[in-house]
Amino acid sequence: MACNSSACQSNCYRNQHDEHTIEQDSPPSSRPGTAAVGESRITNDDNSNTNLCFKCKSKERMSTSGVGDDGRLCSDCFRSNLFAKFRQAVTSNAMISPSDKVLVAFSGGPCSRVALQFVHEIQVKAHKNFEASRDRSLQVFGVGVAYINETAAYSIPSDEIDKTIQTIQSVVSSLSQPRKDLHIVPIENVYSSNLSDGREKLKKLLDAVDDVTGKEDLISYLRMLSLQKIAAENGYNRLLVGTCTSRIACHVISSTVKGQGYSLPADVQYIDARWEVPVVLPLLDCLAQELNMLCCIDGLKTVELTKKSSSGINDLVSSFVALLQVENPSRESTIVRTAGKLTPFNFSRIPDLNESNNVPLATKRRQKRNNFKHVNSLSSESFCAVCNGPLNTSDVQTRHASSSILGACCSSCQFQILPKDSLSHELFLSLLPPSMVARATHGSLGNSNSLRNKIQEFLLSDDDAES
Ligand SMILES: [Zn+2]
Ligand SMILES: [Zn+2]
Repeated sequence: MACNSSACQSNCYRNQHDEHTIEQDSPPSSRPGTAAVGESRITNDDNSNTNLCFKCKSKERMSTSGVGDDGRLCSDCFRSNLFAKFRQAVTSNAMISPSDKVLVAFSGGPCSRVALQFVHEIQVKAHKNFEASRDRSLQVFGVGVAYINETAAYSIPSDEIDKTIQTIQSVVSSLSQPRKDLHIVPIENVYSSNLSDGREKLKKLLDAVDDVTGKEDLISYLRMLSLQKIAAENGYNRLLVGTCTSRIACHVISSTVKGQGYSLPADVQYIDARWEVPVVLPLLDCLAQELNMLCCIDGLKTVELTKKSSSGINDLVSSFVALLQVENPSRESTIVRTAGKLTPFNFSRIPDLNESNNVPLATKRRQKRNNFKHVNSLSSESFCAVCNGPLNTSDVQTRHASSSILGACCSSCQFQILPKDSLSHELFLSLLPPSMVARATHGSLGNSNSLRNKIQEFLLSDDDAES
């Protein structure tokens, strides 16, 4: 089926932040062969050549729009092209090694749905190799799936969330072997898994933030903390997210607007290892439109919650970028490629593999080669307590005297998230989840100072340095 019209039932071209609930449950297309036959097919024999796939030159193109990969390729080539981009990102950045346990962050939307599908396919292949190997010495990486229930942060009708969770469960259980654990966790678990007033606390915390954008951003930081918590508590050593080119393009523009330019390079790389569990972004080279299209042609079930569009910076920027993309289909990629030229931070790579663990030589070599690219990266020792963005050293020095959490926040979070008056400020700080408080007290200056004290006797004094 071709998905080049607005009449398409599967919402291929629908905006990610659309206001309506999207429940897509189209039957799997009968690939290969018949899937590429579309309504827009030109039946005239004289024109049939121009309608053939650019790559295999034997099957029909998915659409005749001539825009992007879906305009030039048949559905099979389109699919293999997209998968190749994913696999290339995984292998060339040494994202997953056979001994890893990967947690896939699954929202139900098309991007994370494709991420889950592709990581599953790589795992199935590795599993087949394992079964074929005589001594069964090859390891197969493990995969788990996490869904964060955000009803404490947004008002979502209970029937809608129930339906979403059912869909998430059916998607994960429908994947073939190897089995994947599914962790459905409420966002208020950032406080404690067995704290009864977590939900109330979270609501009060969000209520203390006046700014619409600040609130949205705070929720996204809490979501990441929840995912990190699930990963750490269940022995995962990678967190795989479905962030695509289009999302990053919006993030580049909105971060610039919010004055987060200094920390931006941290968010636009394939790997983000500033977290306890390193985050990997294998869909960084794929457009949201392509991922939507794949869900459509492969009949991958997706579900997204109703979310009212807001007047905040994030929604404003995403409609702006969507407009740019309509004008020129390579705009999103151009924005991301441009931001990718910023000097990365030293944590934009997987930490060196331990010699003792059971990792194949090829993986180690690949990782070494990849990490070599980061020789000239920026180092960062302190991170914002709220957003975990790396802090500029000059900012840190000017706030050296300040011992409160305020001193451990980037200027953007101070402006957009932290309450201004001292009373609500105190309340806000008392409601922060423990991991943010810990970051403020240990992760920032406190940490480097205490580290300095601990290793004091081994440091060169000024006199030593001169002699
Ligand atoms: Zn083809
Ligand atoms: Zn911040």
